[in-house]
Amino acid sequence: ERLAAEIETRSEMALLMRRSLDHGGFSLQLQPIVELADNVPVGAEALLRWTLPDGRCINPAEFIPIAERTGVILAIDEWVITQALDVLRTWQAHPATAQFHLAVNISGRHISDGSLPHLLATKCQNAGVDPRFLGIEVTETYLMADAERARVVLEQLRELGVGIAIDDFGTGYSSMSSLHELPADTIKIDQLFVAGLTRSATDRTIVELVLRLADSLGMKVIAEGVDSDDKLAHLRLLGCQMAQGFHLAAPMSVDDCTEWLCQRAITPIAG
Ligand code: C2E
Ligand code: MG
Ligand code: MG
Repeated sequence: ERLAAEIETRSEMALLMRRSLDHGGFSLQLQPIVELADNVPVGAEALLRWTLPDGRCINPAEFIPIAERTGVILAIDEWVITQALDVLRTWQAHPATAQFHLAVNISGRHISDGSLPHLLATKCQNAGVDPRFLGIEVTETYLMADAERARVVLEQLRELGVGIAIDDFGTGYSSMSSLHELPADTIKIDQLFVAGLTRSATDRTIVELVLRLADSLGMKVIAEGVDSDDKLAHLRLLGCQMAQGFHLAAPMSVDDCTEWLCQRAITPIAG
């Protein structure tokens, strides 16, 4: 009986999500990503926010898993892509913002269903956006669950010019042997390891290993969850290419982020 009740809430939530998609209940926040060597901003990651009809705002961690289980995630991903391309079109229309990249999080379901390359190609073309400035982030767990299928889809995306990042790296069970088969250009090292960087020798070793692994595969690394100056300094010392986190900037509205990026692009000051 409990299970039935849970399923009912789940489908209610799915219905609510579908309605929200049509009625402006979702929005995107952007969090800046910065090059560590020179503090120059490279762009941002789009993070989804859901405001319920009663005004409560809930986090993706709470609704993405339900969206995935109910299939609503496909419509959500599509909405996110449309919004992100809107931002990119505006950015690419002005010289001051034309160099910025924008990454969106894509559910593994969208990778395994195979429709993403065509969807992105069409949407980029319709929006008049250069796909080389669009990036997708897929969590490691998904990619490795069906690495062969993922490889085929990611290869098509790469042909399009879309950037590919492996998100939450280190939390899954990826074997190093299959990582090199994935046509990804960026590894996002999970905030779990970044959090322990300055106090745990194990975490420090993991971060160092990921950096070396990425380097040998010709990939770049973005450290997530950089929330203090000493972590930033440490990552810079280790040669990590990019960082993202509260210490640099929290996720913010599209307009605020655009302004942040423009200001930092002109006068990059130490994070
Ligand atoms: P993620 O892609 O790994 O995103 C990073 C998360 O870390 C974000 O949480 C961000 O707000 C948070 N964060 C950023 N800087 C810091 C920091 O310095 N310290 C700490 N502790 N956290 C920081 P958020 O926005 O709640 O998103 C959670 C997850 O939900 C994301 O993890 C992503 O997997 C998923 N998600 C977010 N937006 C979307 C979306 O549009 N579509 C899909 N499919 N998933 C999304
Ligand atoms: Mg992400
Ligand atoms: Mg992550």
